[in-house]
Amino acid sequence: AKCGTDGNFSEGELVPFGPIALSPSSGVLNYGQGLFEGLKAYRKTDGSILLFRPEENAQRMQTGAERMCMPAPSVEQFIDAVKQTVLANKRWIPPTGKGSLYIRPLLMGSGTVLGLAPAPEYTFIIFVSPVGNYFKEGLAPINLIVEDKFHRATPGGTGGVKTIGNYASVLMAQKIAKEKGYSDVLYLDAVHKKYLEEVSSCNIFVVKGNVISTPAVKGTILPGITRKSIIDVALSKGFQVEERLVSVDELLDADEVFCTGTAVVVSPVGSITYQGKRVEYGHQGVGVVSQQLYTSLTSLQMGQTEDWMGWTVQLN
Ligand code: PMP
Repeated sequence: AKCGTDGNFSEGELVPFGPIALSPSSGVLNYGQGLFEGLKAYRKTDGSILLFRPEENAQRMQTGAERMCMPAPSVEQFIDAVKQTVLANKRWIPPTGKGSLYIRPLLMGSGTVLGLAPAPEYTFIIFVSPVGNYFKEGLAPINLIVEDKFHRATPGGTGGVKTIGNYASVLMAQKIAKEKGYSDVLYLDAVHKKYLEEVSSCNIFVVKGNVISTPAVKGTILPGITRKSIIDVALSKGFQVEERLVSVDELLDADEVFCTGTAVVVSPVGSITYQGKRVEYGHQGVGVVSQQLYTSLTSLQMGQTEDWMGWTVQLN
């Protein structure tokens, strides 16, 4: 099915951060016709700025736009807009190792609709913010709870794209989990209620010996760019990587579990609670595999090792 149309986005402009005007009958406000992306800019020790795989975000926005019946900016337009926004906000990028600049591109149906239909006009915006660690734990292990009542996505739904409604559906489960002291929620598939999907804002990996397994991308989880990158890094380090159905039972005898995402980078999991039972991972602190992958990825992102994967884009 072809629903997204070719974008014809005009040249944008840089404006100070602030409120935007939106029609009360815009598609995004009424029917959730919105998509976003998330990527980071890092500062190298020599002061120059690196983006991490921005063309992947541009392409994912195009795939999502198709599912949401929206036009998307071209890959070149997306990357150019990201570059301009980052350079205009250069002073906010923290020094190497002290954080990064989080970049949030938004695409929305800004035209007006009354009956349910794709909006007639679209707006593409990028805003940025300096960030440190996503979880208050930093690189220390996080505690997850497996959710078997709320689901994030169903087959045929929009779980595989980065649309705003997916995040609305997890707010409640996340709030309840945080009130109980957990860092975040791990979702199961909505059909069998036994296969791992992902966490609210990151993908999940299970380590057993030399094998690293992660749920396959089949339309209900977001194809994370960090996930894809970690798979390649792990393969290059001699691990065996399996993308497949991963049963919740496999958490019981895993050596290590970790999450990946732009915001969380690689976050080790210290414990998982499922149906009242808590599994703790043997390692005190960060598991060796999680640590190794974290170090490989972040040193590449921050330009501390040679970019042997060709993933970074230098801005200045
Ligand atoms: N899953 C979900 C639901 C997310 O929101 C994110 C963050 N974009 C991820 C996974 C990780 O994706 P990425 O590595 O591209 O940030």
